[in-house]
Amino acid sequence: MSLSLDLKDLDVLTSNAKQIQDDVLKEILTLNANTEYLQRFLHGSSDKDLFKKNVPVVSYDDVRPYIERVANGERSDVISGGPITRFVRSSGTTGGKQKIFPMNDKYIEMMGYLMALSSLVTSKHFSDNVAEKGKKMGLHYIRTESTTPSGLRVCTALASFFMSDYFKNRPSKCNSEYTSPDQVILCPDINQSVYCHLLCGLSQRDKVVVVNATFAYVVVQAINALQIYWKELCSNIRSGHVSEWITDLECRNSVSSILRGPNPELADVIEQECSHTSWEGIITRLWPRAKYIQCAITGQMTQYIPTLEFYSNKLPIVSSTYGSSECLFGINMDPLSKPQDVSYTFLPNISYVEFLPVDHEGDMNSIVDLVDVKLGCYYEPVITNYFGLHRCLIGDILQVTGFYNDTPQFRFVRRKNMVLSVNVETTTEEDILKAMARATLVLDQSTNLMLTGFTCYADISTFPGHYVFYWELKPKDVNYVFELDENVLAECCYALEESFDAPYKLGSKDGLIGALEIRVVQQGTFDSLMEYFISQGGSITQYKTPLCIKSSEALAVLENKVLAQFYSKKKPCSCDL
Ligand code: AMP
Repeated sequence: MSLSLDLKDLDVLTSNAKQIQDDVLKEILTLNANTEYLQRFLHGSSDKDLFKKNVPVVSYDDVRPYIERVANGERSDVISGGPITRFVRSSGTTGGKQKIFPMNDKYIEMMGYLMALSSLVTSKHFSDNVAEKGKKMGLHYIRTESTTPSGLRVCTALASFFMSDYFKNRPSKCNSEYTSPDQVILCPDINQSVYCHLLCGLSQRDKVVVVNATFAYVVVQAINALQIYWKELCSNIRSGHVSEWITDLECRNSVSSILRGPNPELADVIEQECSHTSWEGIITRLWPRAKYIQCAITGQMTQYIPTLEFYSNKLPIVSSTYGSSECLFGINMDPLSKPQDVSYTFLPNISYVEFLPVDHEGDMNSIVDLVDVKLGCYYEPVITNYFGLHRCLIGDILQVTGFYNDTPQFRFVRRKNMVLSVNVETTTEEDILKAMARATLVLDQSTNLMLTGFTCYADISTFPGHYVFYWELKPKDVNYVFELDENVLAECCYALEESFDAPYKLGSKDGLIGALEIRVVQQGTFDSLMEYFISQGGSITQYKTPLCIKSSEALAVLENKVLAQFYSKKKPCSCDL
């Protein structure tokens, strides 16, 4: 893969997508054909037709045993011809045990390439090169790594990127393109990191031209933190002294050198802006030179559009890239497009990707190559990458919205089976039902109450966001007194959380997902909810209580009837992660 960074190369790439995809497949198969996994299907061949005929389309669970063998110390060539030097932990996926994917430095290079290319495209669309005229307030974090039994590092793709030599030695570092020093990004304590990002961003407020994060919720989360900490941040700027609770020494020292002594005038200005009763437009008020917010705003992140627009007085939100642990997918060639219109142009030189039409899920023969997808149709990508995934379904649903030269552009439609999410976790209907079964067991064993209706929603108006479950309860016997035992309901909250999968528990552990809440509603509430839906045109014979509520009117029906609220008294156990 050429790592050249010229916009003209993008034209070459997208005009020759078919050939480039075939070349990528050839290269991957030549590298991996003799692995234990591929050998039995290809017998050492790197022929595309044989690959299509013999290599099965699989889900992660099918390849998990192979990946786990390498994680447990077997040689990389169980699945990969190249060396596997670390693992990426997927955060955006769901279902039982957490997923890890093999990778090596090539993945980091590809990531740097994708980011740099998308930066070029973005700069072209703003009248001048914003990065050259100022700085990005980059809200980036790493989370603590773990290691596999064989001692290989496991962390998220972005954490791998930020911890890599590639990032450490990047050319743009000389221009200090971020307001925060690298030590803030690399600080393992997320609270200290958020605080220091804000402190660095505020103390250089006149330089900030872009507010940048991976996902929209990260920006919202930073503003929520600002609401909590602004007085303390101002006091730090006023005195030129970083708060004592910032104990990570490298982070602390690097931030102190950014503060460069007391600045009471700046503290006054920030204090004045933050003292307004409304925080509407706070981003543009605090960072008046900011031209856009750069973060993924598609898919699950669309729920944050109104909040970001409120905080930023509708600054453009640039959703630059789409990728996953399995595959870095593509870039947005039209950065100024509205969030709902964003499409990503596939980059054909990163992985080999096929597409399974969503209405032909059982028919693997309906899979098509990248250049053969049809405008308007929906597909699930099937990834073959350099690191040991061969024809692996990734669980995202995409729609073809157009072509850039020969290369299709895709709109991110949804995650397969996803219903609830406040961070990057995706909790499915199945997860919710499983969790409810556990929680109602607790209720059943400890009280004389029974559940007569439930639904839930992801409340992102709190910091951090959290899941709210509405429960309607009634005594099992009319003669029983209706009593709510706080300890039992807290145990029910805990049982729900305990049942969710690893990304939920990690988010909870890291303080990115707040304690789950059960709101007990008056009896008859779920009848009122049904009446509401029927009044909107539903049919009583088809009505099913929605497992998860999205409409604010429907939520209002529930909210008007809340009797009591309960939270878990302990965090879900993350020891199995
Ligand atoms: P992870 O493997 O943890 O990095 O999560 C990857 C998943 O995040 C993808 O499969 C998508 O479901 C989601 N994702 C990544 N980028 C975007 C984007 N730009 N828009 C919508 N969803 C995204």
